[in-house]
Amino acid sequence: MSTKKYQFWFLVGSQDLYGEETLNQVERNSHIIADDLNKSGVLPWEVAYKDTLKTANGVTALIKAANFDDNCAGVITFCHTFSPSKMWINGLSLLQKPWLQFHTQFNEEIPNEAIDMDYMNLHQSAHGDREHGYIGARMGLRRKVVAGYRFDVGTLERIAKWMRASVGAAFSRNLKVMRFGDNMREVAVTEGDKVESQIKLGWQVNTWSVGQLVEYMDSVTDSEIAAKLAEYRRKYTFSEPDTETIRYQAIEEIAIRKMLDEQDCSAFTNTFENLYGMRQLPGLATQNLMSQGFGYGGEGDWKVSALTAVMKAMTKDKPGGTSFMEDYTYDMKNGISLGAHMLEVCPSIADSKPNIEVHPLGIGGREPPARLVFEGKARAAIVASLIDMGTHLRLIVQDIECVKPTQTMPNLPVARVMWKPRPNLAIGAECWILAGGAHHTVLSYDCDAEIMRDWARIFDIEFVHITDNSDPVTLEKELQVSQLLRILNR
Ligand code: MN
Repeated sequence: MSTKKYQFWFLVGSQDLYGEETLNQVERNSHIIADDLNKSGVLPWEVAYKDTLKTANGVTALIKAANFDDNCAGVITFCHTFSPSKMWINGLSLLQKPWLQFHTQFNEEIPNEAIDMDYMNLHQSAHGDREHGYIGARMGLRRKVVAGYRFDVGTLERIAKWMRASVGAAFSRNLKVMRFGDNMREVAVTEGDKVESQIKLGWQVNTWSVGQLVEYMDSVTDSEIAAKLAEYRRKYTFSEPDTETIRYQAIEEIAIRKMLDEQDCSAFTNTFENLYGMRQLPGLATQNLMSQGFGYGGEGDWKVSALTAVMKAMTKDKPGGTSFMEDYTYDMKNGISLGAHMLEVCPSIADSKPNIEVHPLGIGGREPPARLVFEGKARAAIVASLIDMGTHLRLIVQDIECVKPTQTMPNLPVARVMWKPRPNLAIGAECWILAGGAHHTVLSYDCDAEIMRDWARIFDIEFVHITDNSDPVTLEKELQVSQLLRILNR
């Protein structure tokens, strides 16, 4: 699941009119811009300067090459001079990679003495990038536009977010999800059109039997279990009397991991309603797998499982953490949502070393499973939910502020996170419910709404963002307009 190899191709627009000397200068400056972007330390992946484009054939050839190169996660364009847009039409109509238009300039300031008409013709992006922007708009192509100077950290951070979204898109196009059994009976929001999800997002979602997993569990060796228990001891605290139960979770984890690896899957689901032949619902097993980057969704929720894996892949280098999550219960007086799940919350979001505990589940009729218990971190985060509207997919993201849990809750036997939804609990929940957001979400301290918006734009998915400024009346109108546009464009 490495995302290290990716590059972003830097394509510089120009034309033949300026003569060799000017075009050589454009080329040298473009190398410098790419080098400065790479040296900034802000961008998570490399910018690779490719060429200064002067002809339609040149544009088309380079865009075809970008499409074909698995390491190219997106293209960044910048018109150092004027670059007539008709020469870009054939190439852009073929573009299959995410596109960012970087509206910048080689020099930050206008040199009072040095400026003459030669200078004007060389440093012409104010002019050239407008022509370039027109053709993007005219062709209705999805792209992110970022304007700013290359040493401005805010500008670079916006490019970095788009890079994360683009790598998330590349990851999506190769993502395989393993389902053990179907989803929880009668539940609607965990359903969805798997064929449409594959057409739109590339997700390959298929089912394996729980019986096969049990066979894999039977073949797990003592030395494999010993190694897994040593890993648990290193990462978590637990009391020795529980070792047999924990050992069973180790067997489950090893067996699930083997099947995931054999099928090249990066995410999985299961359900407490289909554990035939298993003594415990995987709790600790699932939590430890999530902490290694695997996506997970409870009750057969493959959409949230895949989204968890995507959001983890986009932010592998970040320390905050990302987890499958569920709005469980409220502190209405203080405007706080308590998020948890029956077991499966990822320890990457833990505030301190998690403790392995064994408690009855109270649902599903199996043995009490071992699980990790901890509190989430107190800091800003988002929750995200992808739902299937029948006609299209909708991604809903809400800004939240996680807080130190206001109570110790000594009898609550699961990992827990408490947060204040934006703009507040009541309005935030009204907006969320109006938009149809699920009870299952991905909670992330590392992804933000801009990354998710960029990711949704790449796939042309409806995006709803609940912020400090949201209100249900405006949101209802926005959703109606969005619905109308989809009907008109059909
Ligand atoms: Mn659930």
